Amino acid sequence: MIDILSQNLFSSMSYHGFELVFILGFLLLLAQQRLRYSRQIKKLIEDSPVSMMLVDSHTGRILISNPICAKQLGVRQIGKHYLLPGTLPASFLFELLDHFYINQGEAYRFDWPITANQSISVEIYGRQTQYQGKECWLFNVAPYQVNSNEINQQLESLSVIKSAFEHLSAPVFIKGPDGEKLFINRAFERFWGERLDEGMSDIKGIDKGRVSLRHWTVDLSGRSCLLETHQSLLLSPQGDLLGMLGMSHDVTDWHDMQRNLRDEMEKRRDTEVELAQRETILQNILDASPDSIGIFNQNKVYQACNQPFVKALGIAEVDELIGRRLEDVIPIENYRRLNESDEQVLSQGASLRYVDQVSQSNGEVIWYDVVKTPFRDPVSGTNGALVMARDVTERYLAERQLAQANLELERLSFIDSLTQIANRRRFDEQLELFWHIHLREQQPLTVMLCDIDYFKEFNDLNGHQAGDDALVEVAQAFKRVATRSSDCVARYGGEEFALILPNTSQVGAELIAERIHQQVMEIGLEHPNSKVGHRVTVSIGVVSLTPQSQHSCDVMIAMADSALYQAKANGRNQTCIHHTSSN
Ligand code: GH3
Ligand code: MG
Ligand code: MG
Repeated sequence: MIDILSQNLFSSMSYHGFELVFILGFLLLLAQQRLRYSRQIKKLIEDSPVSMMLVDSHTGRILISNPICAKQLGVRQIGKHYLLPGTLPASFLFELLDHFYINQGEAYRFDWPITANQSISVEIYGRQTQYQGKECWLFNVAPYQVNSNEINQQLESLSVIKSAFEHLSAPVFIKGPDGEKLFINRAFERFWGERLDEGMSDIKGIDKGRVSLRHWTVDLSGRSCLLETHQSLLLSPQGDLLGMLGMSHDVTDWHDMQRNLRDEMEKRRDTEVELAQRETILQNILDASPDSIGIFNQNKVYQACNQPFVKALGIAEVDELIGRRLEDVIPIENYRRLNESDEQVLSQGASLRYVDQVSQSNGEVIWYDVVKTPFRDPVSGTNGALVMARDVTERYLAERQLAQANLELERLSFIDSLTQIANRRRFDEQLELFWHIHLREQQPLTVMLCDIDYFKEFNDLNGHQAGDDALVEVAQAFKRVATRSSDCVARYGGEEFALILPNTSQVGAELIAERIHQQVMEIGLEHPNSKVGHRVTVSIGVVSLTPQSQHSCDVMIAMADSALYQAKANGRNQTCIHHTSSN
């Protein structure tokens, strides 16, 4: 374009003087050159791999800046203008220009603030130039390289810290910017031995300033260790990289502890699952059982129970009892009755079993076979009691009927179940039989009725069971006396005995009666409350006769009975004979 322009100028001005043409031509050439130069500068700046900018000497404004400047120094382009980071004062470029005017091109070292918290050390080199006819400075901004001397000086200032590191039990290392070892402490040597490189290797991401990593390795003895290593870049106050500090902690124990804790937690979770399962099983048992089941703890608070259990207590729903004490839920009089055995189980730690009779509100009576058992929950360590009650009403009633049936059977049989001698029924039969035989043969027949004296008092003093035992012994005494095979010794009722002595006259009868008194005395049953001595005695009523056809055997009983009455009336412990005309 400039060529075309100069051609036109030459042709249009051909008639002016040669000088004029020459001057004009020169000026054109000059302008053309200046333009080319400016273009070169612009391209040089823009393509430069380092930060460069061109600043107008008069206005102090940036005319050209490159992308590296934007990236490294935060110089922004807005339209045709370039702006420095806001952290720099507006006068910065004038100060920079002053420096170069005064110091004749000496590099300007400066902490370039990129943000409020971050700056980088830079060295700025300046060269004067011209751009589009303006006086300018071309600045080349390079990160400032610290020399190793300076690093050592800086590290020297860390000597106090280094000596502190020496005494740390944690391995510590410091290495220089090029990875060379600057310092390791004794703990580091002890741990890594010859394996310095491994101990000082960079953790990924350290270029960001500070990193931590937990990793497994082995110590000199071959033991597996979990190391937690922290690495930090060491920067000078100016932000220059001095090196890197690494410090490790052996966290194996901590890790093991964590693992144990985790295992413990897992176990606990398993136990909880197990517990939940146990509770489900327990609930199933409770739900499925027709028996009443309840479980309460040492504070008598119910932990579990089923519907039959609450129903037996007259409570409508299971939920009304769970988590509460019985006394809060049922009438106090019922509570007192049940609580007695609850207390006993809890305090003595022994099982109880008893039959309980419960009257329903409709008047019906239910019999429960109740078992109360203490228990200790191995998981929670708490004590409590398990109550199980089975409705045995049917069985109980059946047993009662059976007992009555047995009594009836006994009545129908010949042997008295307590004393194992003949019973009343047998006696009556035998008497009838012997009466007829003796009537036919006209032989004397003796009947004795014997009654223990003051036996009520004996029972009262010694108890019913001792009374029964005494009855057995007295019966045996009679048996020892009436030894003939035809003799009949029977329990006539209660504490009364009756004897049939066939072919026995009054004389023989008296002898037998006398022996009976002796034998009973010899048993030696203490009877302090007897009014006729200190031992058990008997009174005997005797009748001996030869049966007559106009009478029946009943007459013998009546006579013996009146004789016995007489013996009692005469003072007991004696025999009375009923005297008959036939004797
Ligand atoms: P008495 O000298 O007047 O005969 O006085 P007693 O107390 O013996 O006579 P009573 O008829 O007043 O009382 C009889 C007592 O005998 C009543 C009961 O205590 C006792 N007895 C009756 N049958 C049995 C039994 O089968 N076993 C036991 N242990 N005691 C019985
Ligand atoms: Mg009696
Ligand atoms: Mg009696």
